[in-house]
Parts: sequence; structure tokens; C-alpha cells
Amino acid sequence: MIQNRTVGSLLCAALLGTGIVGGATDVMSGSGQAFAADGEVNVYSLRQPFLIQPMLEAFTEETGIKVNVVFAKDGVIERLKAEGLNSPADVILTVDIGRLNDAVEAGVVATVEDETINTNLPASFRDPEGRWFGLTTRARIIYASKDRVRPGEITSYEQLADPKWKGRICTRSGKHPYNVALFAAMIGHHGEAKAEQWLANVKQNLARKPQGNDRAQVKAIKEGECDIAVGNNYYYGKMLDNEEQKPWADSVSLVFPTIADGGTHVNVSGMAMARNAPNPENALQLMRYLTGETAQEMYAELNYEYPSNPVVPWSEKVKSWGTFTPDDLSLAAIAELRDEATKMADRVDYDG
Ligand code: FE
Repeated sequence: MIQNRTVGSLLCAALLGTGIVGGATDVMSGSGQAFAADGEVNVYSLRQPFLIQPMLEAFTEETGIKVNVVFAKDGVIERLKAEGLNSPADVILTVDIGRLNDAVEAGVVATVEDETINTNLPASFRDPEGRWFGLTTRARIIYASKDRVRPGEITSYEQLADPKWKGRICTRSGKHPYNVALFAAMIGHHGEAKAEQWLANVKQNLARKPQGNDRAQVKAIKEGECDIAVGNNYYYGKMLDNEEQKPWADSVSLVFPTIADGGTHVNVSGMAMARNAPNPENALQLMRYLTGETAQEMYAELNYEYPSNPVVPWSEKVKSWGTFTPDDLSLAAIAELRDEATKMADRVDYDG
């Protein structure tokens, strides 16, 4: 079903691209007629608008295609399902392999087979069936108090369970996708029993009930509430850029921890084409653009993420914060273990 629709869309897109069948999108896609618009593309974003606005503006400037963004923190998949054939969504932007995977499983994405995108992104950053694409990588790191944690005192996620950190660790909720993915990676490397023991011990070490976002944990270090926090690396840059938050960032050093003596746990931000995209050709253009050099450089320089396109280097600033080897456990494997990870967090009552 998805396949058929996609083939139709892409065929349609190809024809439109060559100017053979102008304005036939509605007829060919058979859906979303009300939202098919020349020169427009509709984005459903789980990413905050300020993070993606620069890339979208640059895209409009280059192509003349107007981007309409619907920003939603949660419920994008439910919304797409409810809208069905009448959905105006063309492109979905989100963070986390788990959410990309949820979109695939909910059947709300199309399959995209495109040479430009496949050239821009290494195979490890895209679904073999073209249902999702990873635009950037981010590392889930340890923020350590400069005053109260010695350099080298913690170097791995496993060490978060060491009783020496009792009452000294802060994290956000164990139900948040960023932590669920990390817990899933622990299961992937150590098996469920060992991972569960680890998580139970980490919970014992928490300074307070999990709460707030990643930055709030670094703030808590600055305020002396804890000494160690877990958070994504790009927030360091975002805090440095923010007058109020800079002191939080200045109070910590960054640790790129190892998992099972290997690399650092990473996740992706990514995109998918909506299954019933009313403007598939424009969607494809946007998706190509986001994997291209200009947009990828913006992700690196403005958002402090690691670009997926290997042609684009890391930002010098980001590089100066530390380098690492990414964990070799595949994103697909992590996505598969998410349910188990969530149940495990419940069993140890991580948020309780
Ligand atoms: Fe984030």
C-alpha cells in the first residue's frame, strides 16, 4: 500500500520535475487535493522552530518554495493518522530514532528512493527502505562539575552506577526518548539483566527525582544540587550562546563516555516524507536540500550537531569540546529495544 502510493508520488514527482505533466499532482496522488499548492511545502515538525528556521529560510531563498511549518511537541503521528488522506503534511522533521521508527510503524510515512539523498547520506544514516533519513547525529554525554569532579574520574556510562556518585547525579525523566535510547543501548550491549541492575543503581545515585530538560540538569550542577548530569552535547553550545545559561555551561566539563568499552551513545535527528504528501515534488526538493552542503553546514554551525553528510566537516567549535567514536550498535537495534528499555525503567521505578 505504502509502496504503491510512493511509487505513484515519485513517478508523479519525476514527471513534474521534467515539466511533462505540470500541475497533475492532485490527480496522481489522489489525496490532499486541498493542500496541493504550487511552490509550497508543508512541514510537520517535532523540532523547535528556531532550530530549523534558518535551513528552511535558506531553502525558500534558493528554490522559491514557501515552507509552512506546523510545530508540535507531541502527537504528530496521531495527527497524521487522524488526518489520513486529507493530511496536508509533506515532510516530517523529528529527533530520535525512536520517533522516526514510531512514524514508520504507524504507517504515516512514504518510502523515498532518491539518488541525491542517497549520495548525500551514508547508508548507516538512512532506512534501507527509504522510510526515514538521519540528518544529524548528537552524542548523549556526561556533564561533570568542574569543581567537584576530577578530570578522568568518570569515563563511561557504566560508572554512573558506582556508589561513589550516590546523591550526586541528575537526569531528566527516564521516559524521555533520549534516555530511553540510552537505556536501550545498555540492554543491547549488556543484556537486560545487567542493564536493569545498572539502571537500578543509577537511580540510587540520583540527587533528586528526574525532572526538567537536559539543560536543567546542568543548571542543577551550577547550583550545587548535583555533580554529574546526562545530556545531549549540542545543549552545551546552546547554553554558551545564552546569557542566562552561560554560567551553567561554564560550571561543567564535557565527558564523552564509552559504552561497553566502545564508543559514545549517539542518536539522530531526521526526516521522512509523509505518506499522503500533497506536494511530493516539493517535499523531495526540501529533503534533498536538508541533506545538502548548505543546510548540513547550518546544522553543524548553528545547532552544534554532527552533520550526516560526510562532505561537511564538524563545526570547529564543536570539535573543540571533544571528539569521540560513536557506539557501533546500530540505530535500528536501539529502536528495537526501546519498548524493553521503557519497561525496564518502569520496573526500577526510575522516575519515582
Ligand atoms: Fe534536544
